[in-house]
Amino acid sequence: MWDVVIIGAGPSGALASSLLVQKGYSVCIYEKEYFPRFSIGESLLPHCMQFIEQAGMLDAVTNAGFQFKNGAAFHKEGEDDVTFDFTEKFSEGPGTTFQVTRGTFDKILADEAEKSGVEINYGSTVLSFETNEKNAELQILDSEGNTKTVKAKMVLDASGFGRVLPKLLDIESPSDFPVRSAIFSHFDDGITDENFDRNKILITVHPEHSDIWYWLIPLADGISSIGVVGSPEKIKMSESSDMQQTLINLINEDSHLSALLSNSKMVREARRLEGYSANVSALSGDRFALLGNAGEFLDPVFSSGVTIALRSATMAVPLVIKTLENKNVDWHAEYDVPLRKGINVFKTFVVGWYDGRFQNVIFHKTPDGQSDIKEMISSVLAGYAWDEKNPFVANSERYLNVLAEICTDT
Ligand SMILES: Cc1cc2nc3c(=O)[nH]c(=O)nc-3n(C[C@H](O)[C@H](O)[C@H](O)COP(=O)(O)OP(=O)(O)OC[C@H]3O[C@@H](n4cnc5c(N)ncnc54)[C@H](O)[C@@H]3O)c2cc1C
Repeated sequence: MWDVVIIGAGPSGALASSLLVQKGYSVCIYEKEYFPRFSIGESLLPHCMQFIEQAGMLDAVTNAGFQFKNGAAFHKEGEDDVTFDFTEKFSEGPGTTFQVTRGTFDKILADEAEKSGVEINYGSTVLSFETNEKNAELQILDSEGNTKTVKAKMVLDASGFGRVLPKLLDIESPSDFPVRSAIFSHFDDGITDENFDRNKILITVHPEHSDIWYWLIPLADGISSIGVVGSPEKIKMSESSDMQQTLINLINEDSHLSALLSNSKMVREARRLEGYSANVSALSGDRFALLGNAGEFLDPVFSSGVTIALRSATMAVPLVIKTLENKNVDWHAEYDVPLRKGINVFKTFVVGWYDGRFQNVIFHKTPDGQSDIKEMISSVLAGYAWDEKNPFVANSERYLNVLAEICTDT
């Protein structure tokens, strides 16, 4: 019997497994795909570097040749461009990170976990989960079509959008967000504009519909990940266009993006994802906890997904250890509540983005003497959504409302 079985070898599963093995526990991951596999979520936030370092994986990530990242830039037709430098922020901690091809990034983390002693079984799909007084039992389907039962004292669900345990245990709950779609691809971007900063993600607001936005994430080797997000009605394919053409048409609706990408060429088939925002009624229960996207997923706009995934893994591991040592753990109070605190800070800003309050703040010219406010917002955008010393974390809704009002009035 394993101490811990983990479902999925994405960032949250790889990190949690490695931290546990380093503390002497036996850990096995079942991953349905073979790595490297494509995954979306290429712009990291500086806060997540702390968790990567804690797991001893920093050198492997730093030496992989990923595109350096030090901030975010925002563009909207008719407004001045705005940049946030993540090294100029309120919270302590790293101010830089990377923009990564996720296939490579996820494989690096999984390989590092394997090196530290984790057993990873690729091509193995988790089908079922049951618990009894002694252990949890999982049914696994391997790549040859055989099923087997494995036992563990504790199970961590790191299955991302697979959401294995939420589905099996019927604990999925509706997301607070309406259904949105994303169409995206990789481009040989051909960007020659000297003012374009490859060290930052560029977020562009659609010139007419402020609830539609684009990401442009420069990766290494002149490739950029480009995507557009909006309601399914607004970014649907017309009968005469396929997915690639739909993406190109949407890009061409913004003159700045279209000019920036005038020499670009799509180098990967465009993909579409819809209805990815998700929630659960509980992040933990009898012999299980949910990590990363298997729990709550908000929205891609502030690139918070991988940071939340790694933060959840780092927070769950000490509690798993206490549970394995038969110590009393109140998972709800010690895991669900504190993890959701930061997620809810991101949520406030995501809601404010789509209803326009946060866009007003971002594109408002920062008056002299208010750089400290910009640094507090920069901290949240850099992922430090659990730093309660930051008023925009401790009282995110109140501070965002006050600031939005000031920005609308002046
Ligand atoms: C359009 C879009 C854009 C995004 N952009 C960003 C971004 O720029 N930055 C960012 O940080 N985040 C972004 N995200 C979010 C990011 O993709 C996720 O938050 C992140 O991948 C979550 O990591 P994870 O470890 O929870 O799960 P994942 O990385 O999804 O890993 C889950 C693993 O579980 C495996 N699995 C699934 N089901 C089973 C099963 N039954 N048995 C065994 N294995 C299974 C899967 O194969 C997968 O490898 C974006 C999301 C979307 C939808």
